[in-house]
Parts: sequence; structure tokens; C-alpha cells
Amino acid sequence: MHIRDILANRRPTFSFEFFPPKSAAAVEDLYKTIVELQSCQPSFVSVTYGAGGSTREMTHDLVAKIRQTTTVPPVPHLTCVGHSESQIEEILRRYAEVGVSNILALRGDPPRDWPDYDWSDCDFRHAADLVRFIRKFNESGAHPDPRGFGIGVAGFPEGHPATPNRLLELDHLKAKIDAGADYICTQLFFDNHDFFDFRDRCRLHGIHVPIIAGIMPVTSLSGMSRMAELAAGARFPAKLLRALDRAKGDPAAVEKVGIHYAAQQCAELLDHDVDGIHFYTLNKSKATREIYASLGLATTATD
Ligand code: FAD
Repeated sequence: MHIRDILANRRPTFSFEFFPPKSAAAVEDLYKTIVELQSCQPSFVSVTYGAGGSTREMTHDLVAKIRQTTTVPPVPHLTCVGHSESQIEEILRRYAEVGVSNILALRGDPPRDWPDYDWSDCDFRHAADLVRFIRKFNESGAHPDPRGFGIGVAGFPEGHPATPNRLLELDHLKAKIDAGADYICTQLFFDNHDFFDFRDRCRLHGIHVPIIAGIMPVTSLSGMSRMAELAAGARFPAKLLRALDRAKGDPAAVEKVGIHYAAQQCAELLDHDVDGIHFYTLNKSKATREIYASLGLATTATD
């Protein structure tokens, strides 16, 4: 089923993001997490794709396994930076073969060890090019579903660092929707006003597809530092920093504060008619399950 159909039938959606594990032990841990989170009845789960295709096989294998062993639709992320059209076509063909119905279409960033990355040489320069390519693939009839893949794209409530002109940035986002994307999933954010304002600006800009909010609870201070590094521009509000500062020195208290803060964010988003909430799980289930419980969301859990 396409994510847009899931959103039409059951809104708000709740979904989880995983990354492909690197070691056999981490694979085991991840399957445990996936099993634990099945009780939350997610609308879908997504699996990240390493920069430049570094997790190409691992992402594919994890997505195929989720497709084959669970009833939850998996959405592979696919970044086009560093890939040729024929490589992308091959990846799409393999996903079509295992019955995957949706793709999150991203540009990605050149890996850090490619500092002189030459964009002029690329088959794909922007995510909109990848969306157009997937549409062409869909129209070729290469997918068993005559409609082909449903397509999601990324949005940035705090703005994407490469485009400081926020009006231009919305033109670029609209180009992805006009090219055929069905929904937007946002970068993580910690101030809901950024999300509400982004959603309003999208509507004023003629972008009317569903917008799913990306939420990542802070569960440790070192995790927060990594987040600040990876999600460039992530703004940590003083309110959150003050609460974490009160808890510092006690990792369990830090975790509690981070989960409580994210739960409050989710409650306010739900009060304001959010289309969906996407949890960046970091392959762990505890924070998401606790947020579910504090929101009073039904699970099929036996615990
Ligand atoms: P684009 O939409 O192409 O935008 C990138 C930049 O280019 C923006 O500043 C945009 O304004 C600008 N731009 C777009 N079109 C034009 C144009 N025509 N002319 C000039 N400028 C233009 N990264 C990974 O490596 N793997 C993942 O699995 C992954 N998953 C993600 C999931 C989500 C929900 C999000 C929000 C991000 C994810 N990322 C992932 C990170 C993402 O790849 C980077 O943030 C990347 O820099 C932007 O990707 P994009 O798809 O938004 O690109």
C-alpha cells in the first residue's frame, strides 16, 4: 500500500526509522527492537541508506526481511548522490521484485571523505531528479503494482543549511512535490513552532501533501552531541537544555527528561492535527514505547 493511502485511511500515522546494523550482534538487537515495536502497530517503518550507497546491500536486506517477516510496510530511504541512473534503476528493480511499495527519495550528502565532490558530473543533482526518475520507472510498468512506488521526500522545518533563502527553499520543496512526491517527512526538530510555521509556509506555497513530523527523543547527552553533528542545524531550545542540565550526572534522569520532552512535543503535535509522527528510534524501542504509553496510545503489548 502507498503511504498516501495509509495516510488517507488512518491519520495520524505513527512510524519508526531504523538504520542498517553493521555487526551480527547489532542485527540481533535490531530484530528484537522490531519485534518489540510491532506491538505499537506502526503504520510503516523506514530504513536509512548510507551516504553514497555505503549501506546499499544492508539497507536492501533489512527492508526485504521486514517485508517478508512482518506485516508492517517497509520504506527504504534512497539517496541519489554518487549514483548513476543505471545503479538507481537496479536498486528500484530489486525493491519492486520483493514487493516494496514506497521509497523515500533523497539527495543525500557526499561522504565526508569526498571533500571535492564534483556535482557537475552527476546523473542526479537534487532529490527532485530522483523523484522524476522513480516516476519514469513507475510509468515503465516495471513494478508489479501498476501505480509503481509511492514516493516520500524530506522537508526541513528549521531550514536546510545549503539554502539560506527560505523562499527559494520552498520552491525546491515544491519542485519535489510537482515531480510526483506524495508526502513529506521532516528532519527532527525540538521546537514545535518550527514545525507549525513550516507547515503553514508549505500550505501558503501551494504544497498540500501530508507532512509527517520527525521526532527524536534525547536519551543521553553524548547522543545529543552526535545529533547536533549529524542533523546539521538542529536547534535545541533553552527549555530542553535547562531540563537536561538539571539532570546531568544522572544518565537515567537525562533519559527520562528527554523522553518526557519528546512526549510533550508529540502531544502538542497531535492536538494540532499533525498528519503523522515519525520516530527516529536509533534502533532502540524503549523511548518510543514510553512515549506511546504517555500519550495513551493503544498497543498490543503484553507488558
Ligand atoms: P534536496 O531536496 O535535493 O535538497 C538539498 C539542497 O539543495 C537544499 O538546500 C535545497 O534547497 C537545494 N536544492 C534543491 N533543488 C535545487 C535546485 N534546483 N537548485 C539549487 N538548489 C536546490 N541522508 C542519507 O544519507 N541517508 C538517509 O537515509 C537519509 N534519510 C533522511 C530522512 C529524512 C526524513 C531527512 C529529513 C533527511 C535524511 N537524510 C538522509 C539527509 C539528507 O540526505 C540531507 O539532508 C541532504 O542534504 C538533503 O537531502 P534532500 O533529499 O532534502 O535534498
